Amino acid sequence: MRKKLLAIVLSAAVAVSFAACAPTHKDEDSSYTIVASLDADNVLTASVTCKYVNNNDVPLDELWFHLYPNAFREGAKVVPITDGEISTAYPNGKSYSKLDITSVTVNGAARDITITGTDENVLSVALGKTLDPTEKITVKIDYTLKLPNVTHRFGYNGKTVNLANFYPIACVYRDGAFAADPYYSTGDPFFSECADYDVTLTVPEAYEGAFTGVVQNKATADGATTYRVKANDVRDFAAVFGKFEKMSGVAGTTIVNYYYYDDIEPERALNTAIDAVKTFDDLFGAYPYPEYTVVQTKLLAAGMEYPCLSMISDKYKGNAAGDVIIHETAHQWWYGVVGNDEVNNAWLDEAMAEYSTMLFYENNTEGYAYTFNGKRADALSAYVLYCETYKNNGLGDTSMTRAVNEYDDATEYAYMTYVKGALMLDDVRNTVGTAAFMRGLKSYYGDMKYEIAKPENLIGALEKSSKRKLNALFDSWLDGNIKLYSNS
Ligand SMILES: [Zn+2]
Repeated sequence: MRKKLLAIVLSAAVAVSFAACAPTHKDEDSSYTIVASLDADNVLTASVTCKYVNNNDVPLDELWFHLYPNAFREGAKVVPITDGEISTAYPNGKSYSKLDITSVTVNGAARDITITGTDENVLSVALGKTLDPTEKITVKIDYTLKLPNVTHRFGYNGKTVNLANFYPIACVYRDGAFAADPYYSTGDPFFSECADYDVTLTVPEAYEGAFTGVVQNKATADGATTYRVKANDVRDFAAVFGKFEKMSGVAGTTIVNYYYYDDIEPERALNTAIDAVKTFDDLFGAYPYPEYTVVQTKLLAAGMEYPCLSMISDKYKGNAAGDVIIHETAHQWWYGVVGNDEVNNAWLDEAMAEYSTMLFYENNTEGYAYTFNGKRADALSAYVLYCETYKNNGLGDTSMTRAVNEYDDATEYAYMTYVKGALMLDDVRNTVGTAAFMRGLKSYYGDMKYEIAKPENLIGALEKSSKRKLNALFDSWLDGNIKLYSNS
């Protein structure tokens, strides 16, 4: 994601805006078959069939699924929108989701519907048997879901319908438990394994759709349009519906699409996306999916990444929109292909996306308003000013190792994860040299493709490429404490 920084700190600095699987993928993917219909009242009637493959090394007797839409329900305790954002997110007044799970079956046999988690954010499904490693099981979940009227990743807003995090998705099992974090307002608190998707979505006829994946078929009948979309080896599926214009181009072997409704120079946005895919193909390794789509929409943040699909806020135009497109496109490599636990290791994709944006400008010096040196100087001045501001009031924890909900607020999170994260990677690059740094990123991408990376995978790849020990260098950045800074 890309967030905006608070003006307080940036008034003197430059406008740095923020958008806000173990080695090599050999396992058989789980799969999701989703059949869903959105009616004119923004109620989704859906059926999700998950063929779950136990790719863990322990047997399981239950599965957990995230119920992200419940975070928008009336009475939710952990909410995706902070108090300060309510008037912007809900311009028409508060609006809520309503999720009703009507049926759960396991291999065809009915199961009780058990909703659990810290805030009704998990569906627990008893399998009725032990699912051994490599074994498969089919869980089918039927539900209806009233979408909220909210300018966010999930909801309708009068201009578009953002359909993200809208279906039960299997929680990652690790360290003896399912990772079941609720939908925090800070960061992008999502975390999932790659899977194959076959999605059939029926929507009112007036809507065009932008999707994760490739449209196989589009048919219109009785005032409704049905899309069938497939995507393999992606860690999530999202769609945006609206009345769009569309432009397409090609970057290497990837078709790049741009859907928009309010852009006087759409070819510029499309070309930025194409240049970004080409640049990151060269720098990190080939983008493995046949299509990549950038879609303009209404969004609280500046942008938001999903596999093969980037949402860009329509508030951003020209150079600012381009900057968001580049950041979100970098996430296709860092978050999308190489996944990570975005709750506990948020810097791993955000710092990489932010530094990749700087690398983009280093490699594209014609036709762009920003430069690598300019971006680095902006980050440095913003970070120094942030530290100066906060050391005086006793606040200021500059550690980057916290979970997203452990940051004081979204501003502190953004400064530590994006700004400091990019400066950290630049310091590592200067320490090991550009050639070794870029070799390390390439092997990190190749080794962790379709998997869930941990910090040690990135650090290890850079140690291998540079033949240097880097743990102490990374630790000194990651464990930061503003007291050290003020004493220096
Ligand atoms: Zn981001």
